[in-house]
Amino acid sequence: MTATAPDREGTDSSPPEGRDVEELAAQSGSGLRILRDDTAASSAPVKPRRRSRLGLEEYVSGIAAGERSVLARAITLVESGRAEDEPLAQQLLKRLLPLTGKAKRVGITGVPGVGKSTFIEALGCHLCESGRRVAVLAVDPTSARTGGSILGDKTRMERLFRQEHAFIRPSPAGRTLGGVARKTRETSLLCEAAGFDVLLIETVGVGQSEIAVRSMVDFFLLLILPGAGDELQGIKRGIVEQADALLVNKADGDNRRRAEQAQREYALAIHYATPSTPPWTPSVGVCSALTGEGITEFWAMVERYYRDLGILGIIDRLRRKQSLAWLDDLIREELVARFQRAPGVVDRRQEVEAALMRGELTAPQAAFELLRAAQIQDPNRLFNEES
Ligand code: GDP
Repeated sequence: MTATAPDREGTDSSPPEGRDVEELAAQSGSGLRILRDDTAASSAPVKPRRRSRLGLEEYVSGIAAGERSVLARAITLVESGRAEDEPLAQQLLKRLLPLTGKAKRVGITGVPGVGKSTFIEALGCHLCESGRRVAVLAVDPTSARTGGSILGDKTRMERLFRQEHAFIRPSPAGRTLGGVARKTRETSLLCEAAGFDVLLIETVGVGQSEIAVRSMVDFFLLLILPGAGDELQGIKRGIVEQADALLVNKADGDNRRRAEQAQREYALAIHYATPSTPPWTPSVGVCSALTGEGITEFWAMVERYYRDLGILGIIDRLRRKQSLAWLDDLIREELVARFQRAPGVVDRRQEVEAALMRGELTAPQAAFELLRAAQIQDPNRLFNEES
């Protein structure tokens, strides 16, 4: 993104309270690049503006009215991670819940370089031009390590960025997958409440993050490269089976023939796989995010998916599953956090880990010791030692 990036209502260009601009910029994300660009454009020295939090009613009414500046600030609130922001964030989510649930939730995955951002831009623009409001979110725990963000570091999505009805939010930085996934779920709800009718959630297709995204979307698209097979593309077979559709991207120019070859190979492979969302049968198509070929057809397929499965009540069932997966994640995350904070664990962890390293304890014994130190009731049951 260049220094001329437009200052958009949809991007929270002011730093969250009490945080330094440079600290934020170092943490990455296109929002932060824009932040930097905006501040660079002004002649005054960069000084973080402290913006007070809005009140609950202001957040609720602003979001309900579809105001992107309020939405952006609400996302900053839910992403804050500060204990003192949590009650307001949770009250806000609760208040907005009745306004959610109407958006189409679509996940997009694929290895780096397959063309996810180019595809999302082409699809997002197509949707905006046909009157939809589109929010783009990312689940990218790697950004915490690399300091980059899949939506952030590249000079992309500028066309979508300029669309009046698009909202692009990079992955929250500096978090584990669990944290990123949780914030993305909460951000999705805020976007739905703000009236966005399509959510496109991007994830880099090389790890657990696709599974996290699969559990928060209705329709899951896997983009693949022309030519190479799974192993070469680093796609895990499990991911192919999670997909509701596969698209071989870059089916243009010299790649066209190789794309069609890959299409045939994948069609054969998924023919024997269990469909991710029966009775929907996944298919393999070809597209070019660059020329736009196949984009309209792809969205027509997504519409068909919602129509066919909606009639059968399967979309409602998917939504219930998504809520349960969210609950599971929250419980897991909270239990781990409590375990790690427990005074007994803090005191004994180093010692127990050292004993494990020296071979004096097995890993189950070490876990048993620490769970007991954390005063988690009946850790025996975790290991079936009684049986
Ligand atoms: P991502 O890492 O998956 O988000 O991939 P990008 O969207 O950044 O694309 C990686 C590269 O592939 C860029 O240079 C794009 O211009 C190029 N690319 C993306 N889609 C297409 C396509 O359909 N055809 C061709 N020829 N190149 C593409």
